[in-house]
Amino acid sequence: MSDALLRMADFDLTPEQRLVRRTVREFAEKEILPHVERYEREERYPLELIQKLVPLGFFAPMIPEEYGGSFLDVMTYGIICEELARVDWVVASVVSVTNSLVAKSLLRFGSEAQKEHWLPRMARGECLSSACLTEPGGGTDLGNMQTTASRADGGWRLNGTKVFISHAAHAGVFLVVASVDRAQKHKGVTAFVVDPHTTDGITIGEFPMRTLKRDNLAEVHFQDAFVPDAALLGEPGKGFPVLGAALDMGRFSVAIRCVGQAQRCLDLAIPYATEREAFGQKIGEFQMIQQKIADMVARTEQARAVVYRLGRMLDADAGRASLESSLAKLSASEAATQNALDAIQIHGGYGLSAEYEVGRLLLEAKALEFGEGTSELHRKLIAEFALGIRKQ
Ligand SMILES: Cc1cc2nc3c(=O)[nH]c(=O)nc-3n(C[C@H](O)[C@H](O)[C@H](O)COP(=O)(O)OP(=O)(O)OC[C@H]3O[C@@H](n4cnc5c(N)ncnc54)[C@H](O)[C@@H]3O)c2cc1C
Repeated sequence: MSDALLRMADFDLTPEQRLVRRTVREFAEKEILPHVERYEREERYPLELIQKLVPLGFFAPMIPEEYGGSFLDVMTYGIICEELARVDWVVASVVSVTNSLVAKSLLRFGSEAQKEHWLPRMARGECLSSACLTEPGGGTDLGNMQTTASRADGGWRLNGTKVFISHAAHAGVFLVVASVDRAQKHKGVTAFVVDPHTTDGITIGEFPMRTLKRDNLAEVHFQDAFVPDAALLGEPGKGFPVLGAALDMGRFSVAIRCVGQAQRCLDLAIPYATEREAFGQKIGEFQMIQQKIADMVARTEQARAVVYRLGRMLDADAGRASLESSLAKLSASEAATQNALDAIQIHGGYGLSAEYEVGRLLLEAKALEFGEGTSELHRKLIAEFALGIRKQ
């Protein structure tokens, strides 16, 4: 990043947050980036790379110190996600699922026994996390979920299938949502914290993807899987408030990861445009290439401004931030995809060759238009807030 762009990006960060950005960036460029293409080729999960985050305090920034985490403010956590996402989707994703979805839900809705059991293991990196929400019948309409939880002696039996589940084959804790009464739609949805290693009736299968081939996604089958009452997170039928609270923070971390990916596209396009020549000049001297660079800078900074504002709102604990999190998620994920398209165009045909990263970044950016709510869902929510149909 040039000095001018870095000054703009860092303008209103504290000196500590700037230091965290520099430290995570140096670490990520040295320890993670050189391995990503190889892991993708070998379809291998980057477990060793993830473990390197733990002693540095970058793995569990949202977990309080009393449970072994590094407990940083939301903006600093976001900067860690942004810098990790700038180099690797999967490493950034596990940090964001662990902290935003699973740890935050446990902290807010978990019993003391659940917190004491799970959070220290998560903070030590012994136990990665997955969120099992999406089903083959759909991920957007969660109120209509098919997975059921039926009463059994001392607990519940889970039946159903979840798909697209990031990290599932490597996770030691699942946040699972299932319906205790399908006729009640979203009022039947119930959240559980499940140990996939000790629960009979859970099988984890491969979920074939065209991108993110780092053994990252799985499908998870629950067949009469018994979980004790102690696995309930909150009350039966109150899973939607758990999800709602988790999603504000989840959408923030996905949005800031998109800012990191948008930035990476720019960081790759700029040197290429200043080195590649056509018609005896650097392609960066052509106005049409300059226009793409300018649009990429504008998109990245506009997304960053909206996402950082959301981070500050979450730090101020100003209540639900549904509108702001939808705006941040929508703007940043579409900025990341468009920046990847522009970066590919600037690279010409090489943009699609295995030699350059930008082709992979396109599909990875596109994937973030789905996770934590699709663009259509966020447009619907934003319009409903604007029209007064929906309130925070
Ligand atoms: C890389 C990757 C990782 C993922 N990781 C996880 C994970 O860890 N855990 C997990 O649970 N899920 C995960 N997902 C799944 C993701 O959350 C879903 O893909 C997403 O919620 C959309 O669900 P769907 O794919 O079933 O699409 P559908 O819900 O079937 O929607 C299909 C299309 O219809 C549109 N649509 C739906 N409803 C409306 C409406 N009311 N108005 C307008 N348009 C609408 C959608 O926007 C979409 O364009 C992941 C997905 C990807 C790609």
